[in-house]
Amino acid sequence: MQRAGSTACLAYRDVANRPRVPQLSHITRPRAAEAQRTHRCAAIPICCAHLGDGGATTMSRIDRITIQTYQYTLDNSGREYTRFLLTIDTDDGLSGSYAPHFGGTPHAQAQVQEMARGLIGVDAEQRELVFERLKISHRHYDKSGISVIDTALWDLAGKKYGVPIAQLLGGFRERLPVYASTTSGQPGRGGLGSAQGYADFAESCQSAGIPAYKIHSFFDGNPKTEIDIMTAVRERVGEDMKLMVDPASSLKSFMDAVEVGRACDDLGYFWYEDPYRDASSSAVAHKRLRDFIRTPMLIAEHIRGFEQKADFTLAGGTDIMHIDPELDGGITGTMKLAHFCDAIGMEVQLHTAGPMHRHCMAAIHNTHFYELGLVRPDSPTNILQPPIYADGYGDEVGNVGEDGCVPVPDGPGLGVTYDADRINSGELGRLEVR
Ligand SMILES: [Mg+2]
Repeated sequence: MQRAGSTACLAYRDVANRPRVPQLSHITRPRAAEAQRTHRCAAIPICCAHLGDGGATTMSRIDRITIQTYQYTLDNSGREYTRFLLTIDTDDGLSGSYAPHFGGTPHAQAQVQEMARGLIGVDAEQRELVFERLKISHRHYDKSGISVIDTALWDLAGKKYGVPIAQLLGGFRERLPVYASTTSGQPGRGGLGSAQGYADFAESCQSAGIPAYKIHSFFDGNPKTEIDIMTAVRERVGEDMKLMVDPASSLKSFMDAVEVGRACDDLGYFWYEDPYRDASSSAVAHKRLRDFIRTPMLIAEHIRGFEQKADFTLAGGTDIMHIDPELDGGITGTMKLAHFCDAIGMEVQLHTAGPMHRHCMAAIHNTHFYELGLVRPDSPTNILQPPIYADGYGDEVGNVGEDGCVPVPDGPGLGVTYDADRINSGELGRLEVR
């Protein structure tokens, strides 16, 4: 399929005709900005005509956006995943990339594709303008595509100035204390097949210096299952390890949520997350639930939107705000929410793991732990991480230092190098917008 017009050109090549690029994270080429100079506003929501002068000598205008779809299989499950890599190039030869993990869903990719045309000609450093315009233009949807674009723009800015994103954000810490976040288990199967299996894994994480551990149980909706596992783990690791439980909205009723919450109180759990089947969507319900229990609740993982998360929090729906950088507006959206919570004396937790999460956490003081997950005892593979890094980057138990922390990548931008050969070998297609 190919479409061309006076303002933009999209070219899609399927797998049978796919090109090869040698260095995905460093696509550079001389390019006259002819298309940009002839660019017309038309119905495009963001364009150069909407922007101020901004300093012609330093401006980096977006002139090409590439979305590469790829497939991979995880060794420990045999399951096939499809994700994508976004690369944004500018007319002065700069490039920024982001390959989302958990947030690299087909609907996020569809949003990125739809948003891409409106970005041609925009100053790549006007991230706030991009965030605001995309938020409005995609107000009917969950806006997860913004996160991928925003992160690639932060990567580009870091590379432009030769510094890590954490430094651009204003660093607070260089080492990130982790918690091991388990996969769900299955009774009788594998390392997480029983309450003792969860206890064994918690103990091994504790021995590795990891200071905290979060249980994702069998998700069978049975409070007794949750409480049995929680009890076995606490008895095994003693009082020195912080423990959390996330039923992931699997408990069947509000009173089941109260029962498990009271067990959290009795066992001294650090937080209690997304208990029952309203999918943590009701602030009123969780405000009531908080009246029954003492353990702090971590809610809002399933609330999408900058304003919606603030509303949920102010309505008393949570004690700690859960922010997913890949779903809640990227680095820009994450930092807005973290600062909002800071102002009202609330901590935040970032959902899942990845390079962008590390840079954000490095610059957020009102947070406790980095979620190392999802991990399990019978395989070193983090099931949420695509195997696309050529530099040893990883979010697995073996990547945690003796201090129970992981580092913040210290190279320019995101500070990671994608494995171009690995991504190209799984390529399913490629879309170019320019
Ligand atoms: Mg959760």
